[in-house]
Amino acid sequence: MLLLERLRYWAEKTPDKVALYNGNLKEDIALTYGELELYSNRLAGIIKNQSPKGEAKRPIVVYGHKNPYMIVAFLACVKAGFAYCPVDISSPTERLLDIVKEAGSHLVLALEDLPDNVTLSSKILSLEEIKGLCQDGENQKEVIHIDGENTFYILFTSGSTGKPKGVEITYGCLNNFLLWMSSVVEKNGISHPDFINQAPFSFDLSVMDLYTNLYMGGTLNMLSKDVQMDFSSLYENLANSHSTVWVSTPSFADMCLSDRQFSQDLMKDLRLFLFCGEVLTRETAERLLERFPQASIVNTYGPTESTVAVTEVKITKELLAEDKPLPIGKAKEGTEIEIWSEQEECAKANEPGEIIILGNTVAKGYFHMKEETEKRFLALERGGRFLPAYRTGDRGFLDEKGILHFLGRGDNQIKLNGYRIEIGDIEENLLKLESISMAAVLPKVKDGKTKSLVAFVVLNGDIPADLSERKYIGQLKEALKDYIPEYMVPKKWHIMTEMPLNSNGKTDRNQLKELL
Ligand code: AMP
Repeated sequence: MLLLERLRYWAEKTPDKVALYNGNLKEDIALTYGELELYSNRLAGIIKNQSPKGEAKRPIVVYGHKNPYMIVAFLACVKAGFAYCPVDISSPTERLLDIVKEAGSHLVLALEDLPDNVTLSSKILSLEEIKGLCQDGENQKEVIHIDGENTFYILFTSGSTGKPKGVEITYGCLNNFLLWMSSVVEKNGISHPDFINQAPFSFDLSVMDLYTNLYMGGTLNMLSKDVQMDFSSLYENLANSHSTVWVSTPSFADMCLSDRQFSQDLMKDLRLFLFCGEVLTRETAERLLERFPQASIVNTYGPTESTVAVTEVKITKELLAEDKPLPIGKAKEGTEIEIWSEQEECAKANEPGEIIILGNTVAKGYFHMKEETEKRFLALERGGRFLPAYRTGDRGFLDEKGILHFLGRGDNQIKLNGYRIEIGDIEENLLKLESISMAAVLPKVKDGKTKSLVAFVVLNGDIPADLSERKYIGQLKEALKDYIPEYMVPKKWHIMTEMPLNSNGKTDRNQLKELL
């Protein structure tokens, strides 16, 4: 059964079961499977009726945070035949505007108030209006059938030119991912899972918990940003939840582990940790298994461009006993992994090279970015068939057992606290600030993990006489937040009189490294 059929099935079989809740919203909002189906159908009918006829279907931007109605909005868009494009409230205004413009949305579903200074030419439906439409029985309409080739969602990720890139994931890719992910959960002894959701819905990690949960008929506990940042609310929430499956970045688990309360005593029902998105260290895995003796840990790997994850490995005591970085696992059914040498030939076992993903979860490409798409997305002939493939830019090797190992990036993309960031994206946006004439950003790395970002800038003029350097840098940081999300803003800044250049006239990053 495909996702939307499954949802219809749960709505009939367990209509009163809670599908989604956010126990920390002011109103403590929960939606059942029955409500999710009914409301998304009603809203889909409205979206379909109000859409411009005869025009190409442009994606619909859904703006908000951890409100269960956000998911009503997602499903309503696809049921009406439109892809949705989630934008989290942590996104700065400039980025929101870029995405709405890029998507060309005729409609924006705003589950949270849009920033004050935003004016859009698209029609906007607010949370109150959406709720009203969902309650109105008159809006029950037939919705259209969507097939595997239709784009289901578009997620925007950091782009090296300073503009985010939209990854187009089809309904087919999503179903292929869900079929596999639900089997991973079942294989670990859980047939009726209830998931924890940490990642904002604009990050593809959230697809792992949100849709696997809905596919398997569970209850999703959505942790909002405020709760995640306040340990006492977070632990109160976790203690009250009966969640069995945890999905987060390893960085978030590390943050939770810094408090002793985070243990099996707090979350008695928890049985499985699913990680993705960045290196899972042996230390994190060992500490978790110690604190949660009844839980298993599964490390998964993959980029947004191949629908969340494509490999998986259970972290056993035996693996932890080996004195090596943890592997990222075996490819799922329907996916093949190849390692390419610099000559773009398949490497032998244990030989390092670029990780190439081939198979049934590779995205259509980058939305309206033909050149970028052609650089990374390929169709490769294997065994007489053409398979969609994606050049990840990740380095790794396959061992003699076909298990994939990660060796870092071959370019300027980094992960900081689980967030994917192109260094070029920060540098381009620094140059948008009038007072900066040159900029370079370097990651500060410890034990193979990026711990923070450092900016090196040359100013257009002098620091105003009435401001200390510290205060001035504080102002620059604030100004930068208008263009890029807060997590991308470098922590430490060096104001330089000039930028060191190498013999090619490019910024000499090796010299800058010495200043880190
Ligand atoms: P995103 O598109 O945000 O999911 O980021 C994808 C990138 O995260 C990959 O290309 C890798 O560089 C990194 N990544 C994902 N999963 C893992 C993992 N399990 N271990 C190490 N790096 C990972």
